[in-house]
Amino acid sequence: MAEKRDYYEVLGVDRNADDAALKKAYRQLAKKYHPDVNPGDKEAEAKFKEATEAYGVLSDPTKRRQYDQFGHAAFEGGGSGGFDYSGMDFGDIFGDIFGDLFGGSRSRSANNGPMRGANLRARINITFENAVFGCEKELEINLKDECNVCHGTGCRPGSSPITCSKCGGSGQIVYTQQSLFGMVRNVQTCPECGGSGKMIKDKCTGCRGTGYTSSRKKIQVTVPAGIDNGMSIRIRDKGEPGKNGGPRGDLLVEVNIARHPIFQRQDMDIYSTAPLTFAQAALGGEVRINTVDGEVAYQVKPGTQTDSKIRLRGKGVPSLKNKNVRGDHYVTLVVQVPTNLSQEAKEALRHYDDIVNGGDNEARKRKGFMGKHK
Ligand SMILES: [Zn+2]
Ligand SMILES: [Zn+2]
Repeated sequence: MAEKRDYYEVLGVDRNADDAALKKAYRQLAKKYHPDVNPGDKEAEAKFKEATEAYGVLSDPTKRRQYDQFGHAAFEGGGSGGFDYSGMDFGDIFGDIFGDLFGGSRSRSANNGPMRGANLRARINITFENAVFGCEKELEINLKDECNVCHGTGCRPGSSPITCSKCGGSGQIVYTQQSLFGMVRNVQTCPECGGSGKMIKDKCTGCRGTGYTSSRKKIQVTVPAGIDNGMSIRIRDKGEPGKNGGPRGDLLVEVNIARHPIFQRQDMDIYSTAPLTFAQAALGGEVRINTVDGEVAYQVKPGTQTDSKIRLRGKGVPSLKNKNVRGDHYVTLVVQVPTNLSQEAKEALRHYDDIVNGGDNEARKRKGFMGKHK
């Protein structure tokens, strides 16, 4: 290892410098040599590391005492030669620097300030009618709550999180790479701490360090009239708990509507078919038609053809915005051809045929097609 400079010399302070003076000195150096300001500059990077290490030691009263007594030898027994940053809190300093450099937008407080919890997703199955008229549904989900032993910190009571050694508490890893186009600077969320800048050494036993406990909870879901398949209902504050005092996320419940045996739906309109007997089609009359409101009577005009469409106004699906506004129900009337006729019915039909198609029947009889009939 190259000869190490004296920590006080590195920071440019005298041996009696107090905390404020150390901090001020380090702040100035960090601002000048931070990799974000000097992308790809190896010398600046080395200077930044040197200053960080010096500050890490001198800002810690115990380490400073050891250093004052033994010099660099105090920290070189580890074998790896690497410097242990754990326990150092660069947080406020980096926060200041990033705040200065990037107008605060990338400040680490973005990671450690109050953060809204993530949204959760769930799914419910409802019937066709439930979707048309709305309903109440109960849903059971696993919901996280802040651990009441550690109050969300994940630390054993009495201990506190330490600064992440990989990112120095910034929550981000900045690295530069040589590419065909020159130096490229990449910023990544620190994989070690997930961007929080903190690590838990002494985990809470109540939640195994996660900060949360999970339990099965019943959630009441109010399904509004008119909801359509695949839509989601937002239930406020039933998502994941927030971080650092932030609000909970929301629960988004996707609605899955079962197929109906006779009704189909398109937006606010309902479609179905209804059978019409030959006599009803020919003579007209009242038919009973199934709607979501129950059976309704409909007067069929004489001479109604098969596949005629009728519209039942206001028998469709209510509007989500105003349930007094409803779509329509379109019914396709399908004339049924009778099968399994009784002897009497057959006679009647033949008689009818004779009357309507008399001439043709005579012709057919002569050809022998209907030989038995007289
Ligand atoms: Zn806990
Ligand atoms: Zn980290």
